[in-house]
Amino acid sequence: MSTISLIIDSVKVEATEGTTVLEAAQGAGIHIPTLCTGLGLEPYGGCRLCLVEIEGVEGLPSSCTMPVTEGMVVHTISNRISEVRRRTVELLLSDHPDNCLLCPMNQHCELQKVAAYVGVNQQRFKRLERPNIVDSSNPFFVFDSNRCILCGKCVRICEEIQGVGALEVFYEGVSSKIVAADGAKSLLESTCESCGQCVANCPTGALAAKDFQWTPKEVKTMCPYCGTGCGMHLAVSQNKVVRVRGDVENPVNKGKLCVKGQFGLEFINHPDRLVAPLIKQNGALSESTWDEALELVANKLSKYRGDEIAVISSAKCTNEENYLIQKFTRAVLNTNNIDHCARLCHMPTANALTIAFGNGAMTNSIKEISSASCILAIGTNTTATHPVIGIEIKKAVRDGAKLIVVNPREVDLCRIGQLWIRNRPGSDVALLMGMMRVIVDEGLADTFFIEERCENFEVFKKSLESFDLGFVERITGVPGEEVAKAARLYATSKPATILYNMGITQHTHGVDNVLALTNLAMLTGNVGKPSTGVNPLRGQNNVQGACDMGALPPVYTGYQRVEDPAIRGKFMADWECSLPSEPGLTLTEIFQAAYDGKIKAIYLIGENPVLSEPDAKHAEEALKRLDLFVVQDLFLSETAKLAHVVLPATSFAEKDGTFTNTERRIQRVHKALEPIGNSKPDWLITCQIAQKMGAKGFAFSDPSEIIEEIARLTPSYGGVTYDRLEDGGLQWPCPTEAHPGTQILHEDTFSRGRGKFMPLEYKPPAELPDDKYPLILTTERNLYHFHTGTLSRKVKGLNVLKNEELVEMNPMDAEALEINDGDKVKVLSRRGELVTKVRITAASPPGVVCMSFHFAECPTNRLTNPAVDPIAKTPELKVCAVRVEKELARVGGNQ
Ligand code: SF4
Repeated sequence: MSTISLIIDSVKVEATEGTTVLEAAQGAGIHIPTLCTGLGLEPYGGCRLCLVEIEGVEGLPSSCTMPVTEGMVVHTISNRISEVRRRTVELLLSDHPDNCLLCPMNQHCELQKVAAYVGVNQQRFKRLERPNIVDSSNPFFVFDSNRCILCGKCVRICEEIQGVGALEVFYEGVSSKIVAADGAKSLLESTCESCGQCVANCPTGALAAKDFQWTPKEVKTMCPYCGTGCGMHLAVSQNKVVRVRGDVENPVNKGKLCVKGQFGLEFINHPDRLVAPLIKQNGALSESTWDEALELVANKLSKYRGDEIAVISSAKCTNEENYLIQKFTRAVLNTNNIDHCARLCHMPTANALTIAFGNGAMTNSIKEISSASCILAIGTNTTATHPVIGIEIKKAVRDGAKLIVVNPREVDLCRIGQLWIRNRPGSDVALLMGMMRVIVDEGLADTFFIEERCENFEVFKKSLESFDLGFVERITGVPGEEVAKAARLYATSKPATILYNMGITQHTHGVDNVLALTNLAMLTGNVGKPSTGVNPLRGQNNVQGACDMGALPPVYTGYQRVEDPAIRGKFMADWECSLPSEPGLTLTEIFQAAYDGKIKAIYLIGENPVLSEPDAKHAEEALKRLDLFVVQDLFLSETAKLAHVVLPATSFAEKDGTFTNTERRIQRVHKALEPIGNSKPDWLITCQIAQKMGAKGFAFSDPSEIIEEIARLTPSYGGVTYDRLEDGGLQWPCPTEAHPGTQILHEDTFSRGRGKFMPLEYKPPAELPDDKYPLILTTERNLYHFHTGTLSRKVKGLNVLKNEELVEMNPMDAEALEINDGDKVKVLSRRGELVTKVRITAASPPGVVCMSFHFAECPTNRLTNPAVDPIAKTPELKVCAVRVEKELARVGGNQ
């Protein structure tokens, strides 16, 4: 794109070809009033306020629709322009209530600001009276038609940006109005996902948050939910978060948020927050002082050998906190038994990407998705789990990208996909190898890339021989021609990117699944270039950071191996201690060792394994057998209730630090509130326990001192300083303070040198249906809740939008079992049973039922299979065999 020079109000302005006059003016700091633009919406020209004079052009064109041209001369202010703008505002005001003092947006209303700017201070035209419609059905916001100026911004944001289309303009002359789309009776009954983007961008108070409070204090920080890593501003009053605003400067979300980020932070100031330490005495937890609790924990932890203790860290904590807890585990407790929830989700990613590419992280960046020609979205329900990334996918499809969705379930993306491959759960290796066989047989492979950049191709190619399309069809249930179509589409539409999630990793062959994806990307040369790559979407806000910081059994920070004497020597010298040389136990092994009495003490931070571990009853029993169980959390979770000592921690809003998102972007978390009650940030609690145990190297007074130590010891974080993170963060590797960070991995060479093709064979899931358990249970996440619900279930509005667990079942299965929609059923597996209600839906294929794991009342993971991938030790949460029985009048608890 070339640069265009033009003159705006006598100022020489440079703009990129294709930008509009409005954008060029805004870029040069020249104000033009507008009510219907923003957020990257397509040019619309609806409000007629941004009109300008252009020399040589007739009339007054809208600057938001007029592209810049070389030598253009623009005037944004003149008598003629002012007159038309004034009349436009007067007409808008004639159709708008004049009771501003009663409007929640008073003084923050864009219409008020524009009226003041153009000098309208009285009403010349007679007010129109229209029937007023107030829709307050949504738990978070209200629509008041009286205040609406029909600029259509909400409709366009919902359609163009969010790709949801829950609103439309109902044209009826002067009675035209904004309504819920497709005949829905209310916003609650519409397809609205409550993301709040319409509310955040409504120029008047027509769409307004129900509990809107204005306060001048805003603090820039990060969303605490998923791994997308959206930036946000928290508005704070009297030590409470009263409002949230997406950060338009943030390179990841550019102002957008999903429902959880926008409205899901009520948990911060929830009355159930733990405000003092608790110690169990005579079977009951009661409040204690910090001194008592810390003394007790320090004394008791000192009594165990390293191999009798394990620490479970948290993907919700900051990098600084994860760094400190792994340092404490290794340097003070003298064990490498430290792990966290990444073991349950993306550890196969870390293992497989390291084997094939030499680096276990997402290869490319979120912003590149929208420029891909082809997106293979496999094993991911992105619009529910990573909604803001889902928006990027929808944008790419609108711009012409081909979307291939591979999922046994009919997820939202299937609506817009060019191709939906509905394979059987657990058959991904067969499907992907079948696709690669077609690519090789039809000469669609990128032979230049393979020869120049990769190794082991011939061995891999031989392993394709058994994957003829007949075999692939038998294993996957997908017609061979569909497999071939997907292969051709992916191989010929470049650049092609792969996005995937736990549908790929939570299998006993999760590492093989990811290796199949690395093979596919290398085979077609789709690595190391913009909008390509193999891109895992990490689950929790800082699960990437917790891995980077070494909250894993075999590695220190930056994946530096504990067995390597030189590396271990470096950490021993810096930490001034001796360190164990053998990798520790993984999360799944820790629970088995606790069950077997080998692990006697666990220190757990911010996790809820009683609901999240597979075969959760077994995990609960393991925790009950411990001599010492210390839990550090915001709430008395189902897991914390089992603890001997509970330490109250602060939320993300009450501390400083950094989170690293799924695309390796390290971003700043800024403290907005003072700690609630007597809670303390996790980093401080760790320091105080370590100091009570007599350890050196924990005298930190601020997280900024911890990041300096991380940078000193971690090559990939070597150039990270808080100052450098303020404007959108840095993507690692960032080895020096002069390094700009790395948007795309493996550009010139793979991290391991050559990319390694890996031969693969098909392996079935560990537990398949049989006569006794004839259905497959798969698990999925829901847009309105997160993980085990510890945070999202504290938000009243989210509970309105999704208030109970349901088992989703195909109509054919329901008919065979004589089950009706809404019936109570018992779901049984070899490990447990529970009672829930049925939702009958074709979203689940025949033979497959689906549940989430967000509801403590219905602990789904009591059913799931603890069998693990042999390399990653990640359990097969996506496939287990179950039976569903209609629950007659019996009332049964969940066991
Ligand atoms: Fe938060 Fe993820 Fe939603 Fe962004 S997409 S607002 S990070 S939950």
